[in-house]
Amino acid sequence: MKKSIQLFISAALLFISFSAPRLGQSQTPIPGPSQISAFLNEHPLLREKNASVIEVYFQGEALVINLDQSILPPGTFDESIFTQLQADLDKAFDINRHFMTTFKVEGQTLDHWGQPMPVYEDLIDPPEILESIRSGPLSGVKVALSPGHGLYWNELYGEWWWQRSEFWGIREDTLNSEIMHYVQFALTNQGATVIQLRQFNPNAGIGVSGYPTWQENSRQYAIAAGLPATIYDGSNTNYNSDIRARPYMANYYGADIFISLHNNGWDGTLTGTETYYDHDNNPGSPLLASSVHNRIISTIRDEFDNDWWSRGVKKSYDAYGEINYAQMPAILIELAFMDTFYPDNTYLHDEAFKILAAKAIVAGICDFRGVTCQDISVVPPELNHRYYLPRIMR
Ligand SMILES: [Zn+2]
Repeated sequence: MKKSIQLFISAALLFISFSAPRLGQSQTPIPGPSQISAFLNEHPLLREKNASVIEVYFQGEALVINLDQSILPPGTFDESIFTQLQADLDKAFDINRHFMTTFKVEGQTLDHWGQPMPVYEDLIDPPEILESIRSGPLSGVKVALSPGHGLYWNELYGEWWWQRSEFWGIREDTLNSEIMHYVQFALTNQGATVIQLRQFNPNAGIGVSGYPTWQENSRQYAIAAGLPATIYDGSNTNYNSDIRARPYMANYYGADIFISLHNNGWDGTLTGTETYYDHDNNPGSPLLASSVHNRIISTIRDEFDNDWWSRGVKKSYDAYGEINYAQMPAILIELAFMDTFYPDNTYLHDEAFKILAAKAIVAGICDFRGVTCQDISVVPPELNHRYYLPRIMR
């Protein structure tokens, strides 16, 4: 082989290895709340202000860090403090690979202390939503679908990164979108109008990441849709802004229902489904949570595994940004544990399990609306681009 060709090939391989999204390094151990508290209490930013940690706790994928008021001098809000703390915690404990982090001061989220929030009335009207042309029991109902995570531009490292690690071929970033694609079909078949908060269509092309748009996060989707920057730059980092982009888009488009889908990870020993709602985002959220959760459990038990474990419906106190900032009934489903080889991870490889979960989510939405949905099916409706809402490939 000519030397120039060899050189070209090695350069190409080098390029590929550097341009691939950062794969989850081997899964790092999850730090305990006391380790995180100790790290923060010793952090120069806390020491110089004489500030301290009130509480650190985990709830599912949420990491909540509550600091005392000394961290914010009276009447000022400085988001860069929290950006730095999160970046340093990530370097020390890899927290962004495991958690979505919510900082609080004296028990209140940062918007209470001056973090800017979108003023939806002041924004230009969103692109027109084309309602589903199907009629059915969910006609006129606008459902926003938020599959958790997706490729994001890590501005610290200057690379595209996955948000979550891979477990035996399953990665949340892509799995959540695959299941939500089924949910989209099933909802559309029942007459609902779906508001996509990420691209679900695997044939929708390649995005700015160089990877298929359906693998990219919500923030990227909002940018591609040409939405106002307050929708996709709602927080201090691209990672955190991706979490905010979801409820912000749902609010902007006036969705009636918000469904976020995630899959869990912990220490490889846990199993089952849990469903979260926020304590004060909308009074309809607890009923939406119990309706969807009960259907997921009963459907999986009836048709897949009699022993599928229900971890219950859980109330979150502003811990999950996605459901905290949504203004309509909103829930976050953690379907199964990717890092538990059996049964959860094994089931997540099974297309029948994903389809069953999608149908159950739609049956739960029908229960919540008090309508009867028959023959819930994930067979793609007529492949008409009118169904991909909001449209972004233009
Ligand atoms: Zn997740």
